[in-house]
Amino acid sequence: MRAMVLARVGAPLVLEERPDPEPGPGQVLIRVRACAVCRTDLHVFDGDLPDIRTPLIPGHEIVGEVVTVASGSPLEPGQRVGVPWLGHTCGRCDYCASGHENLCENARFTGYQIDGGFAEMTVADDRFCFPIGDAYSDVEAAPLLCAGLIGHRCLSMTEDARRLGIYGFGAAAHIVAQVAKWQGRDIYAFTRPDDASARDFARQLGATWAGGSDETPPAELDAAIIFAPVGTLVPAALRAVRPGGVVVCGGIHMSDIPSFPYRILWGERVLRSVANLTRRDAEDFLSLAPRVPVKTHTTRYPLAEANDALEDLRHGRLSGAAVLVMD
Ligand SMILES: [Zn+2]
Ligand SMILES: [Zn+2]
Repeated sequence: MRAMVLARVGAPLVLEERPDPEPGPGQVLIRVRACAVCRTDLHVFDGDLPDIRTPLIPGHEIVGEVVTVASGSPLEPGQRVGVPWLGHTCGRCDYCASGHENLCENARFTGYQIDGGFAEMTVADDRFCFPIGDAYSDVEAAPLLCAGLIGHRCLSMTEDARRLGIYGFGAAAHIVAQVAKWQGRDIYAFTRPDDASARDFARQLGATWAGGSDETPPAELDAAIIFAPVGTLVPAALRAVRPGGVVVCGGIHMSDIPSFPYRILWGERVLRSVANLTRRDAEDFLSLAPRVPVKTHTTRYPLAEANDALEDLRHGRLSGAAVLVMD
């Protein structure tokens, strides 16, 4: 198979020919059809996350076809599945036992501790593969697997907020905005101050208001989700939400948060993060998305151009989601 491999943190991915991976017990072999590119891939690439083992095949928004299964597997050869960021949990720790497997002490993540989908073939734990329905093509479905799942987990943490701020209008935001709009919420989109095209994109998706992250929204927000990995947005969002409102940090990594006066947190505002996903999140969102229906906006790149996809994502040069295609 061909794979785009991270040989060393910070070095461009290298196209390699490798033998197909061998599935172990409980694993399926998957022919990858498409794999979306997530900001977390950039954090892996840049070494922002701890203990990155190299060589590594990144990619955790995988859509592919099951080739072989272990005996007793719930999956079948030929079935189309998605493989998300959460790739393995222990099933025994207190978090797993209490419905918080996203926080499992022994979790392993696709494209981080487990080789991922920037390749023509991959193997995955069959308990962490999810059937993908017919409503989406391979490319359309790929961004649902992380931007969609974790974005939706963030949205659910805002409870019944009506006026919802979204900071950073990329892949996750463009999916969350559609679900939020469908739920009857008003979207206030915050983008990089110089990114007028992202604001146009937000308005096309039904945002009530779109402005730069340095602007004050025209109404007090009930909640805000921060997808951009920028710590200075935390006090900005706290200033924009009403007393009792919540600010959700949706990214796995963020630059340091500057100190801020207690009064912008006071008034029972809540500041929280969202980490990873549970299998329940995956099942819930993958059944919800076609009912909205969520339409994903994608930019395709051949597998061999994964480095271009990462750099375009880094510099905000695409709208919606970047997706690698294997043919
Ligand atoms: Zn991701
Ligand atoms: Zn566990």
